[in-house]
Parts: sequence; structure tokens; C-alpha cells
Amino acid sequence: FGERMININDKQMIRKAIETINKLSQKVDDVKIMHVCGSHEHTICKYGIREVLPDNITVIPGPGCPVCVTTQKEIDTAIYLAENGYTIATLGDMYRVPGSEKSLMEAQSEGYDVRIVYGINDAVKIAKKEGNKVVFVAIGFETTAPTTAAELIGLKNKNDNINFYILNCHRQTPPVMEFLLNEGNVNLDGFICPGHVSTITGLKPYYEPCKKYNAPMVVAGFEPIDVLMAIIMILKQIINREAKVENEYKRVVREKGNVMAQKIMNEVFEPIDIPWRGFPVIKNGGLGLKEEYKKFDIFEVEDIPPIKEKIPKGCICDKILRGEKFPTDCKLFGTVCTPLNPVGSCMVSDEGTCRIFYKYKKFQ
Ligand code: SF4
Repeated sequence: FGERMININDKQMIRKAIETINKLSQKVDDVKIMHVCGSHEHTICKYGIREVLPDNITVIPGPGCPVCVTTQKEIDTAIYLAENGYTIATLGDMYRVPGSEKSLMEAQSEGYDVRIVYGINDAVKIAKKEGNKVVFVAIGFETTAPTTAAELIGLKNKNDNINFYILNCHRQTPPVMEFLLNEGNVNLDGFICPGHVSTITGLKPYYEPCKKYNAPMVVAGFEPIDVLMAIIMILKQIINREAKVENEYKRVVREKGNVMAQKIMNEVFEPIDIPWRGFPVIKNGGLGLKEEYKKFDIFEVEDIPPIKEKIPKGCICDKILRGEKFPTDCKLFGTVCTPLNPVGSCMVSDEGTCRIFYKYKKFQ
């Protein structure tokens, strides 16, 4: 393909890319490539990319959905707060994720004050207008953390006296990729790195794990040709016995990322070790509030009792998030567990692997 510009709608190019993958696949053994972004899974399922790949090339969905990796404990904490006098403001996706006993939606139906908001700024407006004690459930990776950070900087600077807090569930992606390479149960040969996250972070966070674990890493966009090109680039690296970070998504992602967003994020957050759903504690996997912003942390003002998780019987979200299983391996998929009646977190969000498989009717 040389340095030719990618025309995302060029069918000829897509055909050529598939042919190239087929040719390259003859020079490698089994190759397992993981992506960590729900939007990549959408592209793969919607356009049937897995179906056109040779048998020895597998693309595995990883922990790429912020709602899915939020732990049951975090959801139960939000419900506990709702039951104890707080207004809980949450994004729509989190509303339906089952906790150990119920979801936030069910808590709302019991009369507790749970509101769906479009973002943290709506939650702040509720606190200002109604004078309630409001907790915003702050979820997401590096893509949404800057929005939370910007709002907290504004609140701190204005010194507004409002009862506004966050339940901080923000996480950062490269550390979980490193965990999967180091301690995962699947022998991964490379990563398709998340396009949205990389828009903020740039390529730097991938350099160290790429080198340390000898794993090719390619940042990719979300058109079918982007995913196919990323697979080609990874296969070429494997064949050439290389491991480097490459950027297929140059039309959006810059080497240094969004420096302003990083600055805002670094002003408010610092890396912390936290568990992800389906994972143990991930070193630097979370973004904790720095000292000056701790007054917004609900754990600083509320004594929350320890919460024990009760993972639903039969749900294999943990294995799906670690790339060990596909949704079709779950006995509950599409029967007991559906988007209308989700059993696990991966069936709730639009970015969840089970939900995406269900949407595109990938039942086998
Ligand atoms: Fe969990 Fe449902 Fe996915 Fe099975 S199909 S792993 S129960 S979310």
C-alpha cells in the first residue's frame, strides 16, 4: 500500500487489503491480536471482518468498554449513596448495569433520586440549582477523564460552595494492556491500540510495553480499512521480527496526542492502582484525584461500608474482558442475557462486547 493515502471507502483497496492479509497469514503461525476499544468491535462485527480473516488470524476483543470494566463494587457504591440521601447523576449506560442486588435504574424505581445526565456539567447544574448533595458517577478512559478534570478545575477556581462530588471510576488503558501482555492467560501477538484514547494520549504510553513485551502495537481508526490495515501492519511486524508502535490513524491521532487535554488531566488526576472488572488490581490502571481535588471525592466525605461483590452465576464477563472467551461461549448469551435483560455489564453498554455481538447477530 506504500504511503498512499487511505481512502476509507475504496472497495478496491479493501479487497486488496484482505488479499494481503491472506498472503501474509501464510508466513505466520497462529496470530492473536487484541483490540481494546468497543468501537473497533463494532466495525469488526458490523462489516464481518472476522469472517474474512484466515483461520490462523484471530482478533480478540479486550477490555475496551468503560462501563463494562467498572466494578460491581463501584455500582453498588452508587446505589448505596442513592439510598443514603444523595442524588446520583449518571450517564445512561451505567444506569442499567446490574449491581449485586439491583441496578441504579431499579434503585430509581424504588424512589431514590437517580438522574441520567449527558455529562458532568449537567450534574453540577443539578447541585447548583437544587442544592442537593449530588454525586456524579465519573466513568471512562483517557477520552472522558479530561472533561471531568476541566469541570473540577472550574469548580475549584470558582470556589463555589456546592455539595458536588464524584464517584471516581476513571481508568487508563495502557496499563491494562501491559497487564494482559505480562499476566494474561492469552498469548497475544500484538495490539490494535484504541483510536479515541490515542487521540488524547498520543503514542508515548505504548512505547514501553511494546518494547518490554516485544508486542507490535498499531493505533487504528474505525473504518473497516483502518482495522484491516492495522492487521496488515501487525502481521508485517511479526514477519519481520519487529515490535514497534505505528500509527495507522494519522488523519486524527498525533504523535504527542492532545497536549492541552493531557495538561488538564494531569492537573487533577494522578495514576493509582485499582481493580478493573474481571481483573485484579492493575498497577496505574486508575486515575486518582490529586490532593487539591480530593474534596470532590465522595470517599473523602462519606464513610462507605465495605461491599462484597456477587458476580451472577453463569456470566463470563470477566473472561470476555480478559480476551479468554467470546460472548458465544457464554451459555446465557442471547437467551437469559439480552440487552433488555442484561445479566452482566458486557451486555449493557453500546461498547460492550456481548451487546455488540447481539446487535450484529453473531450467535455462533
Ligand atoms: Fe455476562 Fe451476558 Fe455476556 Fe454472558 S452474555 S458474559 S451473562 S453479559
